[in-house]
Amino acid sequence: PGFGALGLSEPLLRSLRDSGYTQPTTVQVQAIPAAIKGVDLMVASSTGSGKTAAFMLPALERLIVAARGEGKRRIQGPRILVLAPTRELAMQVAKAASTYGNHMQGLRVATIVGGVPYGYQLRALKGPLDVLIATPGRLLDHIGTGAAVLSSVETLVLDEADRMLDMGFIEDIEQIAEAIPADRQTLMFSATFAGHVGQLAQRLTRDAMRIEV
Ligand code: AMP
Repeated sequence: PGFGALGLSEPLLRSLRDSGYTQPTTVQVQAIPAAIKGVDLMVASSTGSGKTAAFMLPALERLIVAARGEGKRRIQGPRILVLAPTRELAMQVAKAASTYGNHMQGLRVATIVGGVPYGYQLRALKGPLDVLIATPGRLLDHIGTGAAVLSSVETLVLDEADRMLDMGFIEDIEQIAEAIPADRQTLMFSATFAGHVGQLAQRLTRDAMRIEV
């Protein structure tokens, strides 16, 4: 079965055709329908498995469905927050969001990473936003100053959670999660869920479905 059978709607299917994707990968087959339903996920998968699309496509699908009911009263956002360990990965995820959301009307994506000036980021955080992709340290700075407000986040994604913990981001992640409503959906991706990353998953997810590929 192709992507259509996973519950994705036409704007996303069109982007997948543009990208030349014909068949979903294993992790996509398992994660996309569950994530569209709104359940939490703990996905053990590695780079190259197609994991970025496995969280971005269902998150965008939920956005499409929500925006349909809101019309012009579309909320300010951000509604999807992706945390990634490095600037490079954050940039890749942002690129994927723009690619997959290319046929959604005016999808608003911003990236917040360390090592760059604050000015441009402050402007990006002021405007309406759908998807925010961030490294934990810099995002926490912006939460501290009040520039980043996460009260409208509906889906929290942790990409390469084990690497984020290896880099010492555990407390930053916990503080960020506290700034997000508890009734959010949480999608956790990690090479492993052993040790501390498993404990973090226990604290951040609820009744998570486990997927291993
Ligand atoms: P990732 O594991 O998310 O880093 O993705 C690895 C690579 O696979 C990226 O270059 C994606 O663009 C590509 N990719 C993801 N899903 C598919 C798919 N269903 N068909 C073909 N390529 C894909």
